[in-house]
Amino acid sequence: MSIAEQAPAYIRAISPYQPGKPISELARDMGLVEASIVKLASNENPLGISPKAKEAIARAVQDLARYPDGNGFELKAALSERTGVPMSGIVLGNGSNDVLELVARTFLTPGAEAVLSQHAFAVYPLATMAVGAKPVVVPAKDFGHDLDAMAAAVTDKTGVVFIANPNNPTGSFLPGDRLQAFLEKMPERVLVVLDEAYTEYLPDADRYDAIGWLTRFPNLLVTRTFSKAYGLAGLRVGYGLGDAGVVDLLNRVRQPFNVNSLALAAATAALGDEEFLAKSAALNQRGMNQLTRAFEAMSLSWLPSWGNFVTVKVGDGDTVYRALLAEGVIVRPIASYGMPEWLRVSIGLPEENARFIDALKRVLVG
Ligand SMILES: *Cc1c(COP(=O)(O)O)cnc(C)c1O
Repeated sequence: MSIAEQAPAYIRAISPYQPGKPISELARDMGLVEASIVKLASNENPLGISPKAKEAIARAVQDLARYPDGNGFELKAALSERTGVPMSGIVLGNGSNDVLELVARTFLTPGAEAVLSQHAFAVYPLATMAVGAKPVVVPAKDFGHDLDAMAAAVTDKTGVVFIANPNNPTGSFLPGDRLQAFLEKMPERVLVVLDEAYTEYLPDADRYDAIGWLTRFPNLLVTRTFSKAYGLAGLRVGYGLGDAGVVDLLNRVRQPFNVNSLALAAATAALGDEEFLAKSAALNQRGMNQLTRAFEAMSLSWLPSWGNFVTVKVGDGDTVYRALLAEGVIVRPIASYGMPEWLRVSIGLPEENARFIDALKRVLVG
């Protein structure tokens, strides 16, 4: 038996996460110039990073020989001021992925179950399986979370329920009152992770106050990220908001310096750049209209999305994905999410969206 085969069966059963193809890789593969490539594959912010974050990074670069502040005091203080959650209720992560993993390591054991939805974010089953627990995948309803079915799937073995709102890759959204009703039904011993990676893109009419629910539901953990609307995906920083007792445990499990100095400085500055956030959300709304109008004109079906991406039905997703690559356009095939006929497209700059639409027309219509 090889050494790799000595690893536990539950580890060997994990399918690797499939990230969006990097621009540099496509350039190498196809002999293309990087600047000619449009990447709409990882829900990144097409505006780049906020100018305030850029300045903060330049300052923080001076001090990289030192370890970061392992408690992330300044970022937590800024988050606490903004959210009203005490610093003891905030855990920082190397991306919110890190927080999701901390949850699995802290609240799941081999043989325990995590309840999640079909077509939900791929990291939930990954984090669950990595600790030997079992993902219980509840069939989606209209490509979104079926909260009644998820509640019914909770058993004595359930340690965690994962909910993405909005969800990636389907873009579906659950109104606040439905989430609240779900929380009322949950046993107190089950941790509910409400992943709000795209919350900054929500129109005012759809906003709800999950943070306001924390005092009533100590088994709720809200996760958020600086990777999307704040434009800091490359730095890796996210956070969780919850009960101080839960956060204390997550903090014991995390690496002592899990968020690096540049990320801490940039995130603290980005949080104060309301102008950049508003600009990002407005650009997203315009780009969403641009893409969905084009889909409509091409008689393609798409899923209404509350995120910074839209998922469109194209026939054989993999074939269309590859034909788009040949056109220098990277999108995301989602066969691994059980949706082989669909592609997920991140909203880009108007000219990037136009490049994608033109390429899609050539690929589908010829
Ligand atoms: C992008 C995304 C995240 C954030 O990942 P980071 O690790 O913070 O970059 C979390 N949840 C969902 C649903 C996402 O789409």
